[in-house]
Amino acid sequence: ALGSNLGDREGYLRLALEGLGNVVAVSDVYETEPIGGPDAQGAYLNMVAVVDTSLDPFAFLRRCQRVEAHALRQRLVRWGPRTLDVDILFFDDMRLDTPELTVPHPRVVERRFVLAPLAQVAPDRVPENWDEVLPATVVTSRGPLPEQPA
Ligand code: ATP
Ligand code: MG
Ligand code: MG
Repeated sequence: ALGSNLGDREGYLRLALEGLGNVVAVSDVYETEPIGGPDAQGAYLNMVAVVDTSLDPFAFLRRCQRVEAHALRQRLVRWGPRTLDVDILFFDDMRLDTPELTVPHPRVVERRFVLAPLAQVAPDRVPENWDEVLPATVVTSRGPLPEQPA
């Protein structure tokens, strides 16, 4: 799951897709008002990508973190604004609960901004009726990520 709410948000999503390896499917881009964290953050762009990789989960996490570092992400405030957040939602059907990596990602099922794009690329991974069951928050589809900057 990719998210950006600072700077050239679409550019950071493109950067992430380029850095993750063999991207086999991408969702549309969704725009969401920030939930939690400090006040006065900008809106997020979120999307979900499916990646085919031969890396093990921890090596793939390091790749995700390298991509975040390329976006000059600084961890200043937890859940605060960031150029790029790259989270692993699922890794095949693996279950891991370690300090560095928990999969499935524990907060997938409570986040519309994750479930809406996930439903596009991996409908079997979203809980039934999530759309009716989750509290209404405004998540707006912006369609496919443009390949080139506007
Ligand atoms: P959230 O996890 O609620 O989306 P966040 O993405 O803002 O919060 P980060 O600051 O990006 O949190 O990551 C904090 C730590 O979470 C990272 O150092 C990483 O090791 C750990 N982590 C655990 N599970 C995962 C996962 N499935 N994907 C990415 N990072 C994870
Ligand atoms: Mg996150
Ligand atoms: Mg993260």
